[in-house]
Amino acid sequence: MIPETTTQFESIEPISFTPSVESWRRELADAFRRPAELLAHLGFSTTAIENMTCSDQGFSTLVPRSYAARMERSNPQDPLLLQVLPQKAEAVNTEGYHKDPLAEQTYNPVPGIIHKYDGRVLLLVTGHCVINCRFCFRRHFPYHDNRRSRLQWQQSLTYVRDNPSIHEVILSGGDPLAATDSQLTDLFQQLAAIPQLKRVRMHTRLPIILPSRVTLDFCKILRQLPLQVIIVTHANHASELDHSVYNACQMLRQHGVHLLNQSVLLRGINDRHQSLAQLSERLFACDILPYYLHMLDRVQGTAHFYVDDTKAKDLLAGLQECLPGYLVPRLVREEAGASGKTMITSAS
Ligand SMILES: *Cc1c(COP(=O)(O)O)cnc(C)c1O
Ligand code: SF4
Repeated sequence: MIPETTTQFESIEPISFTPSVESWRRELADAFRRPAELLAHLGFSTTAIENMTCSDQGFSTLVPRSYAARMERSNPQDPLLLQVLPQKAEAVNTEGYHKDPLAEQTYNPVPGIIHKYDGRVLLLVTGHCVINCRFCFRRHFPYHDNRRSRLQWQQSLTYVRDNPSIHEVILSGGDPLAATDSQLTDLFQQLAAIPQLKRVRMHTRLPIILPSRVTLDFCKILRQLPLQVIIVTHANHASELDHSVYNACQMLRQHGVHLLNQSVLLRGINDRHQSLAQLSERLFACDILPYYLHMLDRVQGTAHFYVDDTKAKDLLAGLQECLPGYLVPRLVREEAGASGKTMITSAS
């Protein structure tokens, strides 16, 4: 029998934490915010930089130095660089690509909640991210209407509390771990007091992008939660998973956190089966199980990253051939109106 963890707790002890200056916030303040500066840092010539820079289409550049350190110098095709460098192709208007392809705004019952699937809701913690990924499906999402304050969280929490069918809250954003420990502690304490909740899940790129975010204090906060904690990291390439990511994952695991990963299938970045196989292997070495491999959402300005179904199915077949089943992610697409992610199989 699986013990019911939540109902025994009316409230949890307030957590005291040392008010140390959080180094990840300093790292964030020091991030690259101009493509030319990032490219110069990577050793590109002035002429190359001129050729490689273009308009950011209103979605600004943001790349922490620790992420840039994992890029190969002077390689314009580096799979990490391609995830963050604005490209001319973003200006292309492609038919069938929209600003809100998942109609998320339709499933937005109260500000900060996206309730689309049974039993679980997305709670938008903050509109901020610590990196701006060019393929981001939320690059046009109206974060200004969903900007979170403590007061606005109350509205989201009331929605969850009033829905007995919700067993899992998925913290999303932006990036939920871009919030501070004290904000998250406040939120967790309120979630822990909702009796029907069993799990809290966080979808975050932070343990990958800025692993220094995973402090001992933060792990202790998670450990004390009377809910099962799942962190779904977002890594798209094996080169993103260096020793500091490994250490952060070890610490999370030691504090009882389940680790899963989701990736986005991206042309020119991870659309070779060797690359995806290497990603799965490296994830598992970090104690993370591959969960989803997402087809790109058709967001305006991202068509150059799209991998079509035929190619995606071939890649999946290739993975099934060379990896144990538990290292093969589920290939999925998000469809407006569907009751869950739509699975794509290699045979169909
Ligand atoms: C992906 C997603 C979820 C979670 O789906 P799982 O299949 O449980 O991983 C929940 N809500 C929304 C809106 C989603 O897009
Ligand atoms: S971290 Fe996630 S939400 Fe933030 S920009 Fe990247 S893909 Fe988008």
